[in-house]
Amino acid sequence: MADVLIIEDDATIRTALVRALTSREHSTMTAPTAMEGLQSLVAHRPDVVLLDLGLPDLDGTALLAMIRAVSDVPVLVISARDDDRGIIAALDAGADDYLVKPFAADQLEARIRAVLRRAAPEEVSTPIEVGELTVDVRSRTVVLAGNPVELSPKEFDLLAYLAERPGQVVSKRELLAKVWNQPYGGADKTVDVHLHWVRRKLGESAEHPVYLHRVRGVGVKLVPPA
Ligand code: CA
Repeated sequence: MADVLIIEDDATIRTALVRALTSREHSTMTAPTAMEGLQSLVAHRPDVVLLDLGLPDLDGTALLAMIRAVSDVPVLVISARDDDRGIIAALDAGADDYLVKPFAADQLEARIRAVLRRAAPEEVSTPIEVGELTVDVRSRTVVLAGNPVELSPKEFDLLAYLAERPGQVVSKRELLAKVWNQPYGGADKTVDVHLHWVRRKLGESAEHPVYLHRVRGVGVKLVPPA
């Protein structure tokens, strides 16, 4: 089904992942270090990358930044660390999703299918306009009052999800489920941190909202400026 590159230094985990994925009809290639992983990525162009954050030669988040410089391949971070900061750093560096070890093979399979689905070519859609804010899902660009706004991949996904539903209150749980593919709750600081940065980049704040309005105890909505 998919060619999966596994970058993981722990031989036991690597073997278990290969077994789980091949039994589900994926083909796998493995690399025990960041540098071998990067070489394999460039040489073999996998459909999806499983990336361990704790690698012997280079931090996984640093490797991810190098991967993102050369490839849009979906990257699923697999991490022993369940601290929010490491995970948020990986998401900001361009990870599509993450799994905290240990995880079930079925969960891994579901995440792989989800990132591959999202990586499939988007339908052609016209840019969304809310007030002076334009969100173009096709080119993944945001323009505010004529000025381009630079967003990280997940910041863009978050803003686009809200812009596709103007005026509708969206809960953090829904955002975790739909933008981060995390339907089971978990690190909901992820949403807050990304909202904080999107607001800053739009020149507003939670205290002084313009487009992004918090609805206490419910969620957040994107509306044209009052
Ligand atoms: Ca490791």
